[in-house]
Amino acid sequence: MTVSAFPSAAPLDRPVPKAFGLKSGKSLEGLGLRTVGDLVRHYPRRYEHRGELTDLSGLVLGEHVTVVADVQSATVRATRSGKAMLEASVTDGRGRLRIVIFAGHRAKLRYYEAKLVPGRRGLFSGVVSEYQGHLQFLHPDFEVFDPEYEERAREEAAWPIPIYPASQSLQSWQIRNAVRHELAGLQDADVPDPLPPALRSAHRLPSLLDALRLVHVPQEDADWHRGRHRLRFEEAFVLQAELARRRARAAGQPAVRRPGAAGGLLDAFDARLPFTLTAGQVEVGQQIAHELAAAHPMQRLLQGEVGSGKTVVALRAMLQVIDSGGQAALLAPTEVLAAQHARTLRALLGDLAEGGFLGGADRATRVALLTGSLPAAARREALADAAGGAAGIVVGTHALLNPDVQFADLGLVVVDEQHRFGVEQRDVLRTRNEVQPHLLVMTATPIPRTVAMTVFGDLETSVLREVPAGRSGVKTFMAYADRPNYVARTWALVREQVAAGGRAFVVCPRISADGDEQGDDDADLLADEEGEAGEGGDAKATRRPLRAVLEVVEELRGRPELAGVPIGLLHGRMSSEDKDRALAAFASGETPVLVTTTVIEVGVDVPAATAMVVLDADRFGLSQLHQLRGRVGRGSAPGVCLLVSHAEEGTPAWTRLETLVRTTDGFELAAADLELRREGDVLGAAQSGAGSSLRLLRVARDADLIERAREEATALVVHDPELTGWPALADAIEQRLRGAGEEFIDRV
Ligand code: ADP
Ligand code: MG
Repeated sequence: MTVSAFPSAAPLDRPVPKAFGLKSGKSLEGLGLRTVGDLVRHYPRRYEHRGELTDLSGLVLGEHVTVVADVQSATVRATRSGKAMLEASVTDGRGRLRIVIFAGHRAKLRYYEAKLVPGRRGLFSGVVSEYQGHLQFLHPDFEVFDPEYEERAREEAAWPIPIYPASQSLQSWQIRNAVRHELAGLQDADVPDPLPPALRSAHRLPSLLDALRLVHVPQEDADWHRGRHRLRFEEAFVLQAELARRRARAAGQPAVRRPGAAGGLLDAFDARLPFTLTAGQVEVGQQIAHELAAAHPMQRLLQGEVGSGKTVVALRAMLQVIDSGGQAALLAPTEVLAAQHARTLRALLGDLAEGGFLGGADRATRVALLTGSLPAAARREALADAAGGAAGIVVGTHALLNPDVQFADLGLVVVDEQHRFGVEQRDVLRTRNEVQPHLLVMTATPIPRTVAMTVFGDLETSVLREVPAGRSGVKTFMAYADRPNYVARTWALVREQVAAGGRAFVVCPRISADGDEQGDDDADLLADEEGEAGEGGDAKATRRPLRAVLEVVEELRGRPELAGVPIGLLHGRMSSEDKDRALAAFASGETPVLVTTTVIEVGVDVPAATAMVVLDADRFGLSQLHQLRGRVGRGSAPGVCLLVSHAEEGTPAWTRLETLVRTTDGFELAAADLELRREGDVLGAAQSGAGSSLRLLRVARDADLIERAREEATALVVHDPELTGWPALADAIEQRLRGAGEEFIDRV
């Protein structure tokens, strides 16, 4: 190792010195702390006060924690096997924590005994375990506050004590001492600040070095609040600067203008449209038409309520591109959805999609479907249609991303249900062409504004809020899974719907009883939190298995309410032909009840579907339930959605489900969902952890701050797109977003 061979390295890039008990390089690396820069960016998790004892009743078994407590007693005695044991007790004034240290013989314990003097206060750090019903630390580390020292530094005794994410081999106070020492030796010039000085003074933010001192060595609580605020702002600003830069770069790219042509396919399509476009569809349509005609690539995110008619908007954009001599690709997240899109588009286009066929309209084009499971001959044909240009529209899954898929002239990429794709994937299609095609991303998941700004910050956003008139909507009810009369009524209602010509989805969280929870259908299931947090504490033992498709199909086939009703099933482990067959049989009414997983979550359009029963509904996220519910009530008959769960009235799970009963506004639900979820679920795994670019920022909480940072970043990037005047900012982007952190941008 040549670690010490670079005395000229910038101070933050130097390896952490092996002093202050940081002897073990391993323990530092375990926390991802290699350089001084890593160390000073290892922020305290929380702050304690010498004057305030940690509430011991909040300790969780198995967790590594650091607490402030008073020594109550300490005794050393011999164990039966002839060894020595120190047993102490520390307290927060109410509860007690037992401390046990074993040693070969008494003498070895003297050192500890001398420190654990009853009445003294200290920091104790260890893994919480249990012994005979009492909480204990076995062999904890501790730092007892030294009364003499305290005397000398009375003032410092009142300072908040930073508590760091620590490990068993590296204690919070070791980290504290090391950080403190390193910070003392740094000058402002050693710590390049990504925030421009003018911005700092406008927002009254301390310099980076000052902020680091404030969070690591605060003298009062207001200090670390101020330091954290500034570091949060910085996180938002660095990210937004990168997103602004991406937008600016894309806007600077050339694109082929696709203005469309009068008397073309789009006009022909509009003329035969069986309904009037909603005001939102018209408005967004005009915006898109305008951007497609521009010499720079469109980069637009279209958010639209479930059933708001995004497909028609996308199809009209595709037709404009075809009328301009180009082709469009439509990327769907699943084969089921891709096949359905192809069918829908062909149906909407009628003879306009029969190019080259007898009876096709004059200017007709073709819709090609390209998925991984296509038979070889069909695949060859689709590939030829794409490469030769006969297919104006090529629909597919990520199989479209294969390099052997060539387009004659790709002018527009439409990505449906973006949340299943990463930016990287859609970029494959975009950047393969010499000239970037236009891009339209569609999502039915309503995204709160701050998340959109953070996650889709490189796209401009449009929203389709209204749903076409004439929809009867969905009524939502809750049903108790453990009350037989509710269960009987649920299936009786399904029967009524079927008898009236409707169809019913029955959604389960799992495929089979022995499968793991996630199944392979990507159900975004929630942990059973309420169960574990239950008063009795024995909820774990009684945790019931989740309902599974294969099991529920059998049960329903035997239920008297559903006697004689054919029941089908659908899940992600079936082949795509089987899936298509199952959906077709459901749509046609051959099997009017379909037991399924969340494969139907996105985009499945069966207008005759009127009922949806979700089993174990409390295990799904609100947004996901909203998506599911959107599958019914799409035709002229009103829909009904039954949320069946074991949740008890008044529990958080129940309250959450009630939100769905109360509102059908996807944005309201998404905001509620965001509050309830942990951040990582929203932004992906890359957000947490040492390498993360967002350590302190929380999109749900820091909306205002993100908005301000975005404005500032955009203004700065407009004047200096390559950030030549702001090397510290450029470096911060480079280091934080291009490493592990870039996944955050590219793989949401
Ligand atoms: P989503 O936004 O969920 O993808 P779709 O595009 O699948 O919605 O539209 C749902 C249904 O509404 C489709 O059957 C579509 O043909 C129909 N639709 C779209 N726009 C309108 C409109 N303006 N008026 C009536 N029906 C419409
Ligand atoms: Mg759709």
